[in-house]
Amino acid sequence: MKLNPSFKEEVFRAMGEHALRMCYQCGKCSSFCPVFSLYPTRFNPRRIIEMVNIGAEDVLQKDEIWRCTTCYECTENCPQGLNFVELIVFLRTKAYEKGFAPKTPVQELELVRKEGFSVPLSPRAKRWLESNTLIKAGGK
Ligand code: SF4
Ligand code: SF4
Repeated sequence: MKLNPSFKEEVFRAMGEHALRMCYQCGKCSSFCPVFSLYPTRFNPRRIIEMVNIGAEDVLQKDEIWRCTTCYECTENCPQGLNFVELIVFLRTKAYEKGFAPKTPVQELELVRKEGFSVPLSPRAKRWLESNTLIKAGGK
């Protein structure tokens, strides 16, 4: 595991150093997490926070950061008020910028940018959408 103090400082600046330092690794976030309860060896929010707090930049290359559903259960139950969802969004953004994001979410993002949907539309759905948009535009 490669430790990079400047990575830690960057996350601290973005998230607020106080919030991350206040984590005392109690694991309550993980115990409330529905993904952790299903896949405890593959996703653990407490461990992600620990990695950030020691400056383990490798966390950006882990599939683990893409498994959070952003349901906020951890955030709502953290005794220290740490907003894990904000952290995971920050880590995903950094991972994307560095080219570490997995293919599927990147493709979905491109589709949303181009077409407004995260899955490709069938020709039939496109026709339906176009005709309904025209109806609305025409005020009928
Ligand atoms: S619940 Fe809060 S204090 Fe406890 S490990 Fe998770 S983030 Fe840290
Ligand atoms: S927001 Fe993510 S880490 Fe937190 S409880 Fe939900 S799935 Fe788990």
